[in-house]
Amino acid sequence: MLKTHTCGELRPEHAAQHVKLAGWVNRVRAQGGVVFIDLRDRWGITQATVDVQSAPEAHAAAEQIGREYVVQIEGIVRPRPEGMVNPNLPTGGIEVEVQRVRVLNAAKTPPFEVSAESKVDEALRLKYRYLDLRRQRMQRNLILRGMVTKAIRDYLYERGFIEIETPILFKTTPEGARDYLVPSRVHPGKFYALPQSPQQLKQLLMVAGYERYFQIARCFRDEDQRGDRQPEFTQLDMEMSFVEREDVLTLIEGLMIKLVEVAAPLTGCQLVTPTFPRLTLQEAMLKYGCDKPDLRYGLEIVDITDLAAQTGFKVFVENAAAGNPIRAIRIPGCGNYSRKQLDDLTELAKGAGGKGLAYIALESGESGQVKSPIGKFFTVEQMTALIERMEAQQGDLILISSDTHPVVCAVLDAVRREFGARLGLADPKKIAFCWIIDFPLFDWNADEQRWDPSHHLFTSPMTEDIPFLDSDPSKARGQQYDLACNGYEVAGGSIRIHDRALQEKVFGLIGLDVEDAKARFGHMLEAFEYGTPPHGGIAPGIDRLVMLLAGEPNIREVIAFPKSQQAADLMAGAPSEADAHQLTELHIRLAEEISHDGNNGSA
Ligand code: ASP
Repeated sequence: MLKTHTCGELRPEHAAQHVKLAGWVNRVRAQGGVVFIDLRDRWGITQATVDVQSAPEAHAAAEQIGREYVVQIEGIVRPRPEGMVNPNLPTGGIEVEVQRVRVLNAAKTPPFEVSAESKVDEALRLKYRYLDLRRQRMQRNLILRGMVTKAIRDYLYERGFIEIETPILFKTTPEGARDYLVPSRVHPGKFYALPQSPQQLKQLLMVAGYERYFQIARCFRDEDQRGDRQPEFTQLDMEMSFVEREDVLTLIEGLMIKLVEVAAPLTGCQLVTPTFPRLTLQEAMLKYGCDKPDLRYGLEIVDITDLAAQTGFKVFVENAAAGNPIRAIRIPGCGNYSRKQLDDLTELAKGAGGKGLAYIALESGESGQVKSPIGKFFTVEQMTALIERMEAQQGDLILISSDTHPVVCAVLDAVRREFGARLGLADPKKIAFCWIIDFPLFDWNADEQRWDPSHHLFTSPMTEDIPFLDSDPSKARGQQYDLACNGYEVAGGSIRIHDRALQEKVFGLIGLDVEDAKARFGHMLEAFEYGTPPHGGIAPGIDRLVMLLAGEPNIREVIAFPKSQQAADLMAGAPSEADAHQLTELHIRLAEEISHDGNNGSA
């Protein structure tokens, strides 16, 4: 080994020992006849001193080195003199008096500072990701990620699970996104699909009798990128036989509590409550406007349709008459917003698909006026009743949305998120989980005039709702559950169908005819005829969980080599063109070439 100790290891009790350290130069400075080197590795930073008197050769070498050089030093550990101890550094009680400096590799000046947490353009960080990953914050995040996956494995192995790998080159497993396809060289014109999840395979493992499976699985979905999405991402994919919903929920609650405990010493995160509230989808939409509510704060939505419908404000009256809701949120302490600030909120509503946002501002102070462009349409009694319903006080702002149910939900969800952040209620150190249950099994797809599975094709209806599949599929609830945390969906799963006839019926409802169903999922249907245990599972998203435990704003911060928001790898330059001979081997001609040749490729 080129080092006897790590750069985070030495303490005063190592005094007088002869040591070798190797790492990167975090900082180097010359003072009088001494060069000070802060040497860094994954474990920490150690100060080394090179004295021109006692080690002239080493001193000459040290004068030549710069930041991010990789060097080896050799010397004697000594306690730092009185008054020179650095209490902020674990190794701050000692320094290494260097006898020999060896440059293992020189370094160009990095395009951004590695040793400080300065703000750097993300594209530059991604291009030089190997330098970005040297930075303390990224090291902490990746170390945390490793600790999380280890804790997951420990927790599940203690409970009788086994880890099984499933293939990446497979067949479509629809989870609501586009597939990534891989052309086959051996089978001209045929394609593998990268798994959107190992869903089918984990169910087949249940048919195979493994009973408790998990995998830290890579999933691939070709969809538009956002802060919490990547073309490839990692799930803890799991499945269990002979379980009911409660078994899955209890197991996952225990796991999530454990993950927060593991992360807390590193990131300071804190569980808001160890009991995870359970909300039906309908409750979540009515109270929080979304199916993944952020429960770190209240700002709950209140229905005021009955009151608003009685006022003289035409929009409210007409909307209520059409069966649409009018709902509001009380924002504490924003009653004195300026006209401009209030107008800006309209933009927020428009961004969420609404037409606008009505407001009633209860100014604070002596005058304490009620300010609202729609105030003139309210009688004093109506206004009082509304203020009472909202439990509003002087100094509060009431924001009102009136539109169809989905639009009102989207607008007020945006309002909640905005004010959660603006008022500092969305504390990144707090972790608030909740379960969402009782989803409808299907959503109506008006464009295609058919039902879409609201989760995926394999989710079982509630047993008591099975008759609705014939009479009114909209009424059938699925045995589905989602775990939400801080406004993100962090897991989704369900109890599955394990009966061929029921599975075929669901395929039929979503518009797959018998031949289609056989071609795509014949292997599943067939397997269901060879003794299939009742089973269910779930798949927590590891990137999102680690992001939340780390208090980071997006998942790219917790992935070693993420794609940019345009789904590109900026470091290696992927995706990139393929060589002509590769394409030929894969039996592929590019559309541009075909049109260039004036040939449609069919010749
Ligand atoms: N396959 C599902 C998903 O990826 C999870 C599950 O149902 O277990 O969201």
